[in-house]
Amino acid sequence: MKTYRIAAIPGDGIGTEVVAAGVEVLQALARREGRFAFQVDHFDWGSDYYKRHGRMMPADGREQIRHHDAIMFGSAGAPDVPDHITLWGLRLAICQPFDQYANVRPTRVLPGIVSPLRGVAGPELDWVIVRENSEGEYAGVGGRVHQGSPLEAATDVAMHTRKGVERIMRFAFGLARSRPRKLLTVVTKSNAQRHGMVMWDEIAVEIAAEFPDVTWDKMLVDAMTMRMVMRPQSIDTVVATNLHADILSDLAAALAGSLGIAPTANLNPERAFPSMFEPIHGSAFDIMGKGIANPIGTFWSAVMLLDHLGEPAAGQRLMRAIERVTADKRFHTPDLGGSARTVDVTAAVIRAIEVGNA
Ligand code: ATP
Repeated sequence: MKTYRIAAIPGDGIGTEVVAAGVEVLQALARREGRFAFQVDHFDWGSDYYKRHGRMMPADGREQIRHHDAIMFGSAGAPDVPDHITLWGLRLAICQPFDQYANVRPTRVLPGIVSPLRGVAGPELDWVIVRENSEGEYAGVGGRVHQGSPLEAATDVAMHTRKGVERIMRFAFGLARSRPRKLLTVVTKSNAQRHGMVMWDEIAVEIAAEFPDVTWDKMLVDAMTMRMVMRPQSIDTVVATNLHADILSDLAAALAGSLGIAPTANLNPERAFPSMFEPIHGSAFDIMGKGIANPIGTFWSAVMLLDHLGEPAAGQRLMRAIERVTADKRFHTPDLGGSARTVDVTAAVIRAIEVGNA
């Protein structure tokens, strides 16, 4: 029997709660499928580790997870550790060296969940946002001088490379082609950012020639926020820079009903390194330890993990179980207006996997 090695990195805050639930669900799924098993190795990296060791993960941390088949991540962030340390010390310290350049964020309104867009005619959302995950505004290029003096200055330089833009554009066109509508929107801000963003526009035209069966258009990011709210049905697959897609995908998650539902995959499409799967949300310290975190975003990330492992049938079984549970309001956590707890949702999804024809 095939055994997949999964590195579980729960991180901080509710990350620990939702990843524990995600691992339980994956194990239940493996039992139900009977064709494969998961060996899950846990890594206690994050802000507590930082407080003990002065770093978010060990120096050889990446080596420890280098040969796993996939990484299941929770979140990184603590109220008493600066955000740039938690982000750069753990999440980006994995994403960037592992060249997980395609960040994929599906958005759908799951059964039983009410979108704030319910007033819009036909509020069907079925989007995938592809976020460039390795460069752009988050390339880490820049600096700060004269700190504390009136002359203090700081720069963050957005760095777009031809190679980086070509590969994310090719990935996004390919993903759009694999979806029924074969429709891609390329989002930039080429009116104001007249170097990098103009190069994005030009490369989009070049790559589009390789995908004549994909219909595509381009939008400025500000206009895109309006289109997402006013004409959601006109959108299918979207590609944008690291910063723009970061913002658009939080909007997308809110339009789908809750940040607690949205999943994401950080993919190294060439499979030279393991890919990483995580809920979109952060550490949510306001609800940490209360047992009310919505684990659906993590479960949906597990579906993406299964697809990536080449187990799409198992992924579909899990997605059906998730949808059956979201359809039942008894299993809605407080972020969805219900009173269910993380354990209730987890048990319900496991039950749907085990007993249903899900
Ligand atoms: P970060 O900077 O790490 O993204 P944040 O505090 O800005 O963190 P989140 O941690 O994602 O953002 O939380 C934003 C809000 O959404 C919080 O009020 C939080 O309680 C809520 N929230 C986020 N995830 C969940 C979840 N899984 N279940 C329930 N509520 C959630």
